[in-house]
Amino acid sequence: RPRIIAAAQHGIRRDQLSHAALKVTTRLQEAGYEAFVVGGAVRDLLLDVTPKDFDVATSATPEQVHHLFRRSRIIGRRFRIVHVMVGPETIEVTTFRGGQIDDRSDSGRIMADNSFGSQEEDAHRRDFTVNALFYDPSGETVIDYHNGVRDLKARRLVMIGQPARRYQEDPVRMLRAVRLAAKLGFEIDEATRRPIRGNAHLLRKEPAARLFDEMLKLLTSGHAYACLAKLREEGLSHGTFPLLDAVMGDEEGDAFLRLALASTDNRIRADKPISVGFLLATLLWRQVLSRWKQRIADGEKPHVALAEAIADVEGEQDNDLAIPRRFSVTMREIWTLQSRFENRAGQRPYRFLEQPRFRAAYDFLALRSQSGEVDPALVAWWTEFQDAGDEGREALIEAAR
Ligand code: ATP
Ligand code: MG
Repeated sequence: RPRIIAAAQHGIRRDQLSHAALKVTTRLQEAGYEAFVVGGAVRDLLLDVTPKDFDVATSATPEQVHHLFRRSRIIGRRFRIVHVMVGPETIEVTTFRGGQIDDRSDSGRIMADNSFGSQEEDAHRRDFTVNALFYDPSGETVIDYHNGVRDLKARRLVMIGQPARRYQEDPVRMLRAVRLAAKLGFEIDEATRRPIRGNAHLLRKEPAARLFDEMLKLLTSGHAYACLAKLREEGLSHGTFPLLDAVMGDEEGDAFLRLALASTDNRIRADKPISVGFLLATLLWRQVLSRWKQRIADGEKPHVALAEAIADVEGEQDNDLAIPRRFSVTMREIWTLQSRFENRAGQRPYRFLEQPRFRAAYDFLALRSQSGEVDPALVAWWTEFQDAGDEGREALIEAAR
């Protein structure tokens, strides 16, 4: 039934797999199980994109996989998978999912999914046709049950099965559709696209932590701005879930958002590291800023007003956004430091330079100035101050009086 495509047609060579992916599939096959590279990695290799990571699908159960690899562990409850570590790499190994879903809520939402099945059934349970391709390294063949190669060539994202039903099973698939289309430069097929608007509200009930993870993938895809524009277009912006609402902001804040995301996208595409804390600080800045301004207008001192504005914003969102602490700490520091740029008297600028987060705060100030919020002369002053020697610095302090 499936199309079996030979190497001469698809062009993927075994040696394009990572060492770990090849090792895991080979060892599983040698032990008598079926094992394939699956999903995004096969899709990306066909598109001549270097895969971010490799996923493996197998007929072996999680216990059998765990038994074969000393450095492995079974994770997940609703959806049990095995992480196999090979050198610095981690391969996600999933057992073929079966036809029936263990446990559904009244709305059709999948609550647990650990019934195992055949490769064909597994293909049927994946989201998009281009994500349901298997690669067999031993024969160097691609196995295609759902015309994924055809859709990949046409650059379109097509949901397997009935799209509305698949979104009800798992609403996060709507976010995946938008992210993958923006990242790959694909069209979302009309039948796949149409039900999104009407089902957007289902995202509200998803666990905040899962939504945060998906948002993070979206924001670090290298196409964050395009993703957000597309989310708006598909009706996935306001009233869906709090983090997205916050990020979407208002039309007025769009210039800042655009700048912030363009700079993140550029860094990611150039393979430079990005700071998620910094990114989140930019995305939520508009909310802090409006409260900060309000409190200053009410007569508070700038640094006190800022601290209170930050506390307001953090208090309002708290659990809703599910921002992990390792990110929220950096975010808060960058915000808190913004009021210190105005203070350029005496020893203050010297002490500020020694602050570990000075550089991040300064980059943030530069972004604010690019969007027209802050006087560029202030940024220029700090740029010079960093580069100047002792005498130059004294002159700058004198000039700022
Ligand atoms: P990326 O390039 O972002 O890694 P990906 O398609 O590989 O994209 P993963 O989250 O790594 O995304 O998922 C691996 C594979 O698992 C997908 O290609 C798809 O086949 C399947 N999959 C992931 N999430 C879902 C889902 N919510 N519903 C159905 N299948 C899914
Ligand atoms: Mg992947």
